[in-house]
Amino acid sequence: MKHSNIPIFLPELACPHQCVFCNQVKISGTLSVPKPKDVHAIVETHLSSMKEKRIVDIAFFGGSFTGINSDLQEQYLKEAFKFIQNGLVSGIRVSTRPDYITPEKLDLLKKYGVTTIELGAQSTNNEVLNKSGRGHNFEAIKSASALIQENGFLLGLQMMIGLPQDTFERTLQTANDIVALGADCTRIYPTVIIKETALEQLYMKGNYKPLSLEEAVLWTKELVKVFEKNNIGILRIGLHPSEELVDGKSLIAGPFHPSFREMVMSKIWNELILKELENKVTEKITLRINDKQLNFAVGFNGINKQELQKRGISTKFIADSSLSKYQFDVSYN
Ligand code: SF4
Repeated sequence: MKHSNIPIFLPELACPHQCVFCNQVKISGTLSVPKPKDVHAIVETHLSSMKEKRIVDIAFFGGSFTGINSDLQEQYLKEAFKFIQNGLVSGIRVSTRPDYITPEKLDLLKKYGVTTIELGAQSTNNEVLNKSGRGHNFEAIKSASALIQENGFLLGLQMMIGLPQDTFERTLQTANDIVALGADCTRIYPTVIIKETALEQLYMKGNYKPLSLEEAVLWTKELVKVFEKNNIGILRIGLHPSEELVDGKSLIAGPFHPSFREMVMSKIWNELILKELENKVTEKITLRINDKQLNFAVGFNGINKQELQKRGISTKFIADSSLSKYQFDVSYN
């Protein structure tokens, strides 16, 4: 059965930190923070728009949930918990910072049916964390992860690529650390420069250079391989395309693209197909691909098909649902 999150954005609520990249108002594309009494209507609206039966979680995202005053946290949770009690929702997820996890905070989450805690780890490299103004180190990520797991929650560790002082090796190490910490799921976000952030200042002074879109795609492709090999669910690749990001009003620079995930998946298929064709002389091939992967194999905007064409290979792509995710058949005709 398909899984859906009903997102409730609580932008920068109670967050005293200023991570260099963060302007939650711009990222979530909203200025108003929903109140606990609004939770009911938000969830109802989403549920009524779902046509097929799904596994549904209510997700408090956008800020550091466990940093909110505990009375207010409880009010939000109580509203969400009613939907668990009446069986309409199966879980609650919250996102927060690694240094906002304590046994007391976890007790409150447990009491109201929270199932998954996603930590914004961003990087496991202390220099990157420090230069990004995160205000916590790798040790904090490790101890929070352990506490979350000991208390029976599912653990999500989100990461960012291209933060200040980040390198490909550091990014890859972060992915490997996320695996080693036993995360159940992850999200991969390329760093972009949003208006009215410290990163904008650094960029304007020439002290920060964002990744190009191509670099971000190539780095992320390698992370996807690490996570898939280790069966870690990748819940998101790329920033959610809020209106403000899509129309470019909030975006100063950086590798934002509404189809970022498609680009990464296209690159993975590009690699698979070219490896298969290595040392083969052919002018025409037929590729049978899993139906859900077909568009990625053809490539974002047909880029893989075009690349093969440039190499003198005309390719026919056929969907075949009997094939597994990365399995494919090639006929040389
Ligand atoms: S901790 Fe989260 S909400 Fe607070 S500034 Fe950093 S990224 Fe933004």
